[in-house]
Amino acid sequence: MTQSLAERYGAPVPRYTSYPTAPHFSADIGADTYATWLAALPMEKPISLYMHIPFCDEMCWYCGCFTKIVKRYKLIPAYLDTVLHETELVSTHMPTRMTVSHVHWGGGSPTMLKPEDWQRTMDRLHALFDIAADAELAVELDPRTTTPSYVSALAAAGINRVSIGVQDFDAKVQKAINRVQPYATTATVVAWLRDAGITAINLDLMYGLPHQDENKIEHMTTLALDLQPTRIALFGYAHVPWMRAHQRLIDERALPDATERWTQAELAADILTRAGYVRVGFDHFAHPDDPMAAAAQNGALKRNFQGYTTDDTDTLIGLGASSIGTLPQGYVQNSASIREYQRLVAADTLPIARGLQVTDEDLLRRKVIEELMCHLRVDLAAMCKSFAQPVEHFDSTLATFDGFVRDGLLNIDGRALEVTALGRPLVRAIAAGFDSYLEGGAAKHSSAV
Ligand code: SF4
Repeated sequence: MTQSLAERYGAPVPRYTSYPTAPHFSADIGADTYATWLAALPMEKPISLYMHIPFCDEMCWYCGCFTKIVKRYKLIPAYLDTVLHETELVSTHMPTRMTVSHVHWGGGSPTMLKPEDWQRTMDRLHALFDIAADAELAVELDPRTTTPSYVSALAAAGINRVSIGVQDFDAKVQKAINRVQPYATTATVVAWLRDAGITAINLDLMYGLPHQDENKIEHMTTLALDLQPTRIALFGYAHVPWMRAHQRLIDERALPDATERWTQAELAADILTRAGYVRVGFDHFAHPDDPMAAAAQNGALKRNFQGYTTDDTDTLIGLGASSIGTLPQGYVQNSASIREYQRLVAADTLPIARGLQVTDEDLLRRKVIEELMCHLRVDLAAMCKSFAQPVEHFDSTLATFDGFVRDGLLNIDGRALEVTALGRPLVRAIAAGFDSYLEGGAAKHSSAV
């Protein structure tokens, strides 16, 4: 049964970190539109910032991020200067001095920044915005290059949440993905972070990697639990060598198939939930004391470009090359070319390459998809009414869901949908039923399992 489900519903679908998804953005949206959207931001509402640092020391072969390998550090402070310049430029288009409730540094490896870069970045943000006293300041951290003094610099800059990239602790798996990172390295950095007062610690794990099997997944998950993280993200490796050429270095013969991926994901989930972690959406687990556990249980969980989040702002400003921003009116994406991004910002131009203005229909579908992805249920009739649409609006879509119901993935009561425990790993495939842009674009996405 499980084997046929993994194969039947494992076709490529988006991760729905946005709706509509990024492949549907167009060059029709540029700097001028972005400027008008920024000027119209509601002054009383807080915003969030995402700062992208697209540099790494060496390439992990599984990597799906927009990053560049650099050996000369001097490129990085120059790039950071541009990001801070862009931040100022964006702030001048806003209607007032805005309050910021979340800042997330991603990449690439944001911890390629030097300790002194963190302080000057925070000084600049404090100069341009009111950073809320309880703001979440989160960084993706590469433990392979971290030192105690670096951790102290992060804490001094106010960083209060860290995501540590792990993937797997097994040496054979690490070698096969070109990311050698002994368990002791991760454990030592976790201890340094706690000593420095940074106790909100996420671990990023992965299944579906070359050479992984059930024994390795059990070992990986047990070791992760020993570190007592506040959150664990369990991502399925997305093998898309047609989009990420370096993934061709991964031996495809060593990759688990769809059925094995399903088994690995559910085995890890079972171990984590039995240890008391709350399962969040389809790929996150939160310690009961972590705010994400409460958000999952009280309906406050959201989804944005970083995945599942407790950030409930309507506005996420993307800063840095390739960054995507979300505003009430739609999405914008900066130029992915670092050179072009720097050229535009140097000319005091908002460096937007493309975007999408959302329609009322997009907003309705986005809400339906977000409810399914976050809370695994949605009352379509109530949702349609709240968007002033007839309750029958999605009836033709529902008529295509017989297979999900027959296979035990979804319960439908009238127009109320509830994803079952069996269907949880496949919620992306169910959500895709509401994606009116999907047809013909599936090859751009990763497997649903
Ligand atoms: S450190 Fe992260 S962003 Fe950099 S290559 Fe590895 S996976 Fe990609």
